Amino acid sequence: MSNDPTSTGHKITVATTWLDGCSGCHMSFLDMDERLIALADQIDIVYSPLVDTKELPEQVDVGILEGSISSDDDLEKAKEFRQHCKLLISLGDCAVNGNVPSMRNHFKLADVMDRAYRENVTLQPQIPVHGVPNLLGTVKPIHGVVAVDLFVPGCPPHADAIWYVLSELIEGRTPDPSQVTRFGA
Ligand code: SF4
Repeated sequence: MSNDPTSTGHKITVATTWLDGCSGCHMSFLDMDERLIALADQIDIVYSPLVDTKELPEQVDVGILEGSISSDDDLEKAKEFRQHCKLLISLGDCAVNGNVPSMRNHFKLADVMDRAYRENVTLQPQIPVHGVPNLLGTVKPIHGVVAVDLFVPGCPPHADAIWYVLSELIEGRTPDPSQVTRFGA
């Protein structure tokens, strides 16, 4: 990681979003509980499902992505985060290795769609074509499409791991990957 997000001495700005995930990793973020109050003095969450602001600023210190790349919408968001964020964190097993969403990689996409929307549906079975993102043929982890600076595995990652990573970044240090995984899920 060449850029130290804290080098300017300001509160570090953080953006988060979820791609193909269950939001459980964001729930783990919230599981930092009272530590969130301490964090509020040191970070600004400038874009996230957790806050009202819905426009990604031009430049953000730390981007956090939950979920895998399963659709063209996920792909676009991951590229946008990479462009706007100095440091990009892949949060949780879906982001790190594809996890549950990638289980469909063993089957043809057409068969998966048939199974989900026709075979298992009794009322108006039909494959949605309007207003939903196009699924990619293969689900990929975040680093399969953009460069990632830090991986925080776990399903979900432990709140202590997220706290450790953010605390290190706030102090201007690079989190030690071996320490990130010591908390378990
Ligand atoms: Fe949900 Fe687990 Fe995936 Fe996080 S890693 S989005 S908790 S399934």
